[in-house]
Amino acid sequence: MTKDELAKKAGLTTYDCALPQTWLNGVVDTLKHGCVSNLPENIYGVILSGVVWCYDGSLMGYPYALTNHVLGYLKIYEETTGVKELQQEVCMACVRIIKEGGFGPTHNGSKNCESGSIASGGDIAHCTCDVCF
Ligand SMILES: [Zn+2]
Ligand SMILES: [Zn+2]
Repeated sequence: MTKDELAKKAGLTTYDCALPQTWLNGVVDTLKHGCVSNLPENIYGVILSGVVWCYDGSLMGYPYALTNHVLGYLKIYEETTGVKELQQEVCMACVRIIKEGGFGPTHNGSKNCESGSIASGGDIAHCTCDVCF
C-alpha cells in the first residue's frame, strides 16, 4: 500500500505525504547515533516511507507513523531528544524489540496463529506461539 492509502486506512483526514526535511534529518541522525542495534542501512527511506505529517487537530502538524515498527523508531527519537510530538499510543514492546535489533515476536504476529495474535483477528500483541515467533 502507498503512504496515501495507509494514511486513509488509519483514519487521517488532513495530512501531507512529504515530511519537513529538517525533522527527517534530525530523526535519522538521532537514530544513527542512538542506542539501536542493527539499524537498517536505509533508515532514511524507512522513516520517509513510513510517516506522514498529520494536521488533524493541529495547525503545526505532527508526525504520524503508518506502522508499529516506524512508530517505535519515532518513540526512540523522542526518548533520546526529549521532543514530544507523537500523538499515537506507542507499544513499548515494539520499542524494546527494535532497540535490541529487531528480534522477537512481531507486534501483529502471524495470520495463521491460533492463539489470538492481532494478524489473525485477535487482540494479542507480540504473541509468542510457535507460529508467530
Ligand atoms: Zn508492539
Ligand atoms: Zn501466535
